[in-house]
Amino acid sequence: NRAPDARSYDLDALREQMLPHRGGAVTESIPQLAEADPGLCGVALVTLDGDLRSSAQSDVVFSIQSAVKPFVFALALHDTNRAALERVGIEPTGEAFDAIKLESGTGRPPNPMVNAGALLTSSIVDGDDAAARAERIAAGLSAFAGRSLRVDEEIAEAEQRLGDRNLALAHLMRSEGTLRVEADDAITVYARACATLVDAEALAVMGATLAAGGVNPCTGERVISREVARDVISVMATCGVYDGSGRWMREVGVPAKSSVSGAIVLSAPGALGAAVFSPPLDEQGTSVRGHLASARLSDDLRLHAFDVS
Ligand code: GLN
Repeated sequence: NRAPDARSYDLDALREQMLPHRGGAVTESIPQLAEADPGLCGVALVTLDGDLRSSAQSDVVFSIQSAVKPFVFALALHDTNRAALERVGIEPTGEAFDAIKLESGTGRPPNPMVNAGALLTSSIVDGDDAAARAERIAAGLSAFAGRSLRVDEEIAEAEQRLGDRNLALAHLMRSEGTLRVEADDAITVYARACATLVDAEALAVMGATLAAGGVNPCTGERVISREVARDVISVMATCGVYDGSGRWMREVGVPAKSSVSGAIVLSAPGALGAAVFSPPLDEQGTSVRGHLASARLSDDLRLHAFDVS
């Protein structure tokens, strides 16, 4: 019996247990993220019948960053009738999110959860040019969240201006013939996706939409097929926390995606979606409080995929 008590779970108590943990460091990748308050912590969860529960600070707004990657992968699978599976690998890398490395032999990105993969998946969603693809992603993300999400233009601009490694990855994939749009266009679309503003509540609804097999449990809208949801959650499970994915699966046991802004989105299939936001990160770029809160939530609600009890 998974998530037996999700509806009465006290997320404020969970949050308060996390606050004393002061480990980790806020990213310095772009000025807007470096300014984040390290004391912030918000948690939200959404059951599959659309019941949303949240702690204090779950309405604090932040840029989604890499927590967007599962949803962009989902939209790419949807828009290509799953032909996207031929364009991107699905094996974990054991390396950092921005490693300059492609799949050997094919020159494809290793998986859709690292930067190379998200640059590729965001280049193959519907749309004839960069602006149209960015629009497609914005509309798709809004459907996942059940509300209209907007992009922070300053973050998108900084992301693009300071995104030299991402540009290097885009050029490398172009040289392999695996990225088939202009490198600059790929960066523009990816940067806008990362700069999409959410809060923990919106991100939890997004996770719940995957966990519910592609139907947003709050709006009732089918956003992607059940098959696509399964594909995406599988890859979150194996690759979602980069080189920390093995440790995450043992300790938390719930498919998830981490992000440099300190957000984590979780999808426990058939049970619930959840999100934690707290900016200080560990060495793998995972929110320290987010990891602890997720492990606690998983234990308390019996969400671990491999726990037989
Ligand atoms: N936008 C960030 C980047 O491309 C996202 C990275 C992350 O959240 N890990 O560097």
